[in-house]
Amino acid sequence: MRLPCPHCGWRDLAEFVCRGDAAPRRPDGLAASPDAMSRYVLERDNPAGPLREHWFHAHGCRAWFEIERDTRTHAITRDGAP
Ligand SMILES: [Zn+2]
Repeated sequence: MRLPCPHCGWRDLAEFVCRGDAAPRRPDGLAASPDAMSRYVLERDNPAGPLREHWFHAHGCRAWFEIERDTRTHAITRDGAP
């Protein structure tokens, strides 16, 4: 599998780290309840189909970016280009 880094172009998957679903937003750590923080850290949807994900180009430019990937086919349906 290859991924499109917005800075480096298409690169091998081995260069990247996936953080997962880009939709959840971190709750305010001081105001959030333990249950809200637990849901943020531990509970994620696992959809079959398009999913926006955070990726880190760990062995490249070290940039974070988002792409949309179909989890059934691994097709990139929207790249992280600005
Ligand atoms: Zn890069």
